Amino acid sequence: MTDDTTRSDVRLSGISKTYGSFTAVHPLDLTVPEGSFFALLGASGCGKTTTLRMIAGLEEPSSGTVHLGEQNVTALPPYKRPVNTVFQSYALFPHLDIFENVAFGLRRRGLKSVKKQVGEMLDLVQLGEQARKKPHQLSGGQQQRVAVARALINHPRVLLLDEPLGALDLKLRRQMQLELKRIQTEVGITFVHVTHDQEEAMTMADQVAVMNAGRVEQLGAPADLYENPQTTFVANFLGTSNLIEAEIAAKSGDDLVLKAGDSKLALPAARCSAPTTTGGKVLVGIRPEKIALTHADDAAGIAEGRNRITGRVTATSFIGVSTQYVIDSPAGDGLEVYVQNVERDGRLTPGAEVVLHWNPAHTFCLDAAQDIA
Ligand code: ATP
Repeated sequence: MTDDTTRSDVRLSGISKTYGSFTAVHPLDLTVPEGSFFALLGASGCGKTTTLRMIAGLEEPSSGTVHLGEQNVTALPPYKRPVNTVFQSYALFPHLDIFENVAFGLRRRGLKSVKKQVGEMLDLVQLGEQARKKPHQLSGGQQQRVAVARALINHPRVLLLDEPLGALDLKLRRQMQLELKRIQTEVGITFVHVTHDQEEAMTMADQVAVMNAGRVEQLGAPADLYENPQTTFVANFLGTSNLIEAEIAAKSGDDLVLKAGDSKLALPAARCSAPTTTGGKVLVGIRPEKIALTHADDAAGIAEGRNRITGRVTATSFIGVSTQYVIDSPAGDGLEVYVQNVERDGRLTPGAEVVLHWNPAHTFCLDAAQDIA
């Protein structure tokens, strides 16, 4: 059932795909809210394209159902589904100009006067001036925008995008990420976007499903996934995480006290997705930009209430907006801690003794029993 407050455009129920004895997609349930930009994110081979193809009707599920809006489309062939797909390869017709490429879907439906609709669509993707060019006369990014315009011209209920920016260089890719997001916001159609690039998913999507080995590991808004990863896979896949092995030493009110090497760390129990039993082994996660780095000589100036561990700088690298430090710390055996965005202190060179410190609330905590992917 879909209620009025959370209308969905795509609803997958127990959908799976097996090839012989190999399971590419384990039974999964997924709901894509109407009008949202939704990303399926994961490494190569995790089953994201197979999932997308089952929505499109290009792949027959081994079990489960696909609903588009209220309609069960599981048994419908692709051309009868209210979806369209944009592929990485653009798949434009090379002999047709841009106008005719975009008009194609309308002409196939027998429409004669297409000028207004095609013009509007070309304006939407900012290619109004290029209408009479052939695809080979356009850049990769422009060709991809033609592919999007062509896929949107018949107003599908859902637009599926399979690594659409994969063939573009990094700079163009970033431009196109913003461009696709703008187009989606303007047309208000649900986009389901497959990518292996976490930055791309985070930049564009309202919601991201992180896939791993044929399963959805976690689903959420980008900031929520980043700040509250529930598994080590998600913590490592989305940005850099420092994961410190620790043991739950005590519970006091809403806070936990953890022991990591020779350090004691505080943590609000609510930030812990692992069982919070005393003696339990956990992994404490801190994002690099949440950690401040102070030379050991200045440690007395660190504010009360911050978690702190000691260490020694082993390497530094200047990366423009910030400097990245690698730290060895007794809190983890040879732990490499990445710290970014600290003010430059000329003393923080390899060999320097330092204190790493952070606000306990800026920590997440995972069950150490999970496999580290
Ligand atoms: P990529 O980004 O590399 O396309 P993906 O996450 O989209 O990866 P899928 O294409 O969905 O992954 O494939 C998931 C798994 O299913 C892979 O291990 C792949 O080899 C396997 N697979 C896909 N299609 C078939 C097929 N027709 N026959 C057998 N195995 C297949």
